[in-house]
Amino acid sequence: MKKIAIIGGGPSGIFCAIKILEFAEKFDIKPEITVFDNKNILHTILPTGNSRCNLSYSEYDNMELAKNFPRGEKFLYSVFSRYGVSDAVNDFEKLGVETYIQDDLRIFPKADSSAFVKQKMLEAIYNKVKFERIEITEPLKAFDAVIIATGLKNYPKLAENYGHKINEIKPALCGLKIMEKEFITLKGVSFNSVIFTEIGVSGPFIFKLSSINAYKSFPYQIKIPLINRNELKAKLKENPKKQFKTVVSMFIPASLANILIKTEKQAANVSNKEIEELEFLTLTATSTDNKGEIVHAGGVSLDEIDNNFKSKIVKNLWIIGEVLNIDGFTGGFNLQNCWSDAAICAKDVIKKLYP
Ligand SMILES: Cc1cc2nc3c(=O)[nH]c(=O)nc-3n(C[C@H](O)[C@H](O)[C@H](O)COP(=O)(O)OP(=O)(O)OC[C@H]3O[C@@H](n4cnc5c(N)ncnc54)[C@H](O)[C@@H]3O)c2cc1C
Repeated sequence: MKKIAIIGGGPSGIFCAIKILEFAEKFDIKPEITVFDNKNILHTILPTGNSRCNLSYSEYDNMELAKNFPRGEKFLYSVFSRYGVSDAVNDFEKLGVETYIQDDLRIFPKADSSAFVKQKMLEAIYNKVKFERIEITEPLKAFDAVIIATGLKNYPKLAENYGHKINEIKPALCGLKIMEKEFITLKGVSFNSVIFTEIGVSGPFIFKLSSINAYKSFPYQIKIPLINRNELKAKLKENPKKQFKTVVSMFIPASLANILIKTEKQAANVSNKEIEELEFLTLTATSTDNKGEIVHAGGVSLDEIDNNFKSKIVKNLWIIGEVLNIDGFTGGFNLQNCWSDAAICAKDVIKKLYP
């Protein structure tokens, strides 16, 4: 009997076990699968999507889908062409997880519950896969195939101990600390997908910026779109006697307008320069707010795996999921990466073990 080890029982590791079992049934073969995890299986899926599990994103053009990954875009284009969003949605429906698409194209389970997704994934492997609660720190022996799916929450020492090169790990999809102290008083105030925090700024727009700039040295300037110049001009014209600040408050929270506009002048007397200055809010990011980080940039170098996730340098080793140097924006992209990596890897493992 062929023995397969999956190190890491997160979304990518468990989905890989599910797909291996599916192929095993199809080809009437019986590999022995053991999942090793130092914590509870699938504990990392519980907080996803604010406990609703944003499991994918409704984009069926694989090139467009891959553009949502600041690291891994080129590699993923071929991956998504072989296992994309509709494959994942179909597979989850087979597991009993029906899905729906939100207006912003994010895909969620109809149950709106990550605990439900966890339960359905566990049901699929129940009594068919061995589980060992242990932290693996050294290369495993006595297995015909080993799959590393450890994520990046702990530094991926294991992959390094196997001899793989690790690209520098940096927080991504996180809030940013800012230098301008006057905005800290705005804690909780939000505008244009940005929310002020006790140390800086957060929210979807900032997450995306933090991801794009993951390797940029601090401090750096960030420009947040504030008010469309033409729309502001039109409102000022409609309300010439109102205070400039009052008109600006029709577009952004009054507390923010109070900080940005020091003058008491009327709308009719506002200069073009003053209007232009409100097009963007420019702030200085001094570091990441690591409490909020959702994924990590960096990880196992993609040069060292083939397009089926098989190691080019270690025999019978595959590496999948967030532990790789792949990370996407918020929107379900990171979990879609887990499903795609896992499904392709599972197929390849079966093909190599049962030629
Ligand atoms: C708060 C939050 C919300 C998120 N929401 C979303 C979302 O809605 N949609 C989305 O697409 N993405 C989301 N993400 C990102 C997503 O959760 C990750 O991309 C995904 O969990 C990565 O899966 P993985 O299986 O590769 O790694 P992980 O989920 O990190 O799982 C790795 C597992 O391996 C175990 N492990 C690690 N090292 C060892 C070892 N040496 N030996 C044994 N076991 C080990 C860990 O305990 C863990 O169980 C969110 C992330 C966070 C933090």
